[in-house]
Amino acid sequence: MAQGTQKRNDIVRKERQRVLRKKRIRKRRLIKLCIYASMLLGVVLLIGGMSKMLVAQQLTEAKESEPGNVIVLDEEVLIKPTAEPEALVEDDLHPTVRPILVNKENPLPEDYEVELISLPDGRGKAAEEAYEPLCEMLHAGTEEGLQFLVCSSYRSKERQEELFDEDLKALLRNGYTYAEAYEEVAKETMPPGCSEHSTGLAFDIVALDYQMLDKGQEKTEENKWLRKHCAEYGFILRYPKDKEDITGISYESWHFRYVGKEVAEYIMEEGITLEEYLEKLDNTY
Ligand SMILES: [Zn+2]
Repeated sequence: MAQGTQKRNDIVRKERQRVLRKKRIRKRRLIKLCIYASMLLGVVLLIGGMSKMLVAQQLTEAKESEPGNVIVLDEEVLIKPTAEPEALVEDDLHPTVRPILVNKENPLPEDYEVELISLPDGRGKAAEEAYEPLCEMLHAGTEEGLQFLVCSSYRSKERQEELFDEDLKALLRNGYTYAEAYEEVAKETMPPGCSEHSTGLAFDIVALDYQMLDKGQEKTEENKWLRKHCAEYGFILRYPKDKEDITGISYESWHFRYVGKEVAEYIMEEGITLEEYLEKLDNTY
């Protein structure tokens, strides 16, 4: 019995010693780990400090050596930007916005539909999307002491036909052949179905005290203001000077077309026509 107890005690003692040994080993490992971690931290701080000192020293040297405070640093010390500056892409073009093109080659689709709103003066109508921008633009100009008259806005195809025929007949009466008369009228009046006015997005705007659609219009303060500010409201000067070969229409300082602000700003800044804008869009996307 006593022998059995002795044996059990030995086993218990040995087990305790084993556990203690394990604990000691673990403790030693933990201490070692702490020491390594401290050493690593020290090295990191040391390197950081040295780099700062180096940069500061270089800055001082550069300041001293370069007159006019031009700071030159060694390339290695300079922190280089991680990315190249953003490349200038043609992101001012707006592929999702494609204003409708209506000209002699591109008549309005037969099924084209437009929601119209009567203008405040009750004498004309505008497409729903152009109504507010038009009112805002004219209001802003009026605040500057200007007085405008929208002398032409939405025009149905039928009305366009009447206008075209009236001009045609006048020339025919004056001895023009039909072909000559047609060509002449088409320089200033779009054939039926080819007028932007049938979209409700185009407006002829003149000065109240100068209502002539001629070269004198661009000299009015109203016209100067419109040409300068129209893009802010989404409008472009649709038939600019020296672009007759592209638009097929003589310079009209009074004809403004709504295309939306982004596109208008691009077109007016670049000094291009809607035709050129759309061509650019097709070539880019
Ligand atoms: Zn017009």
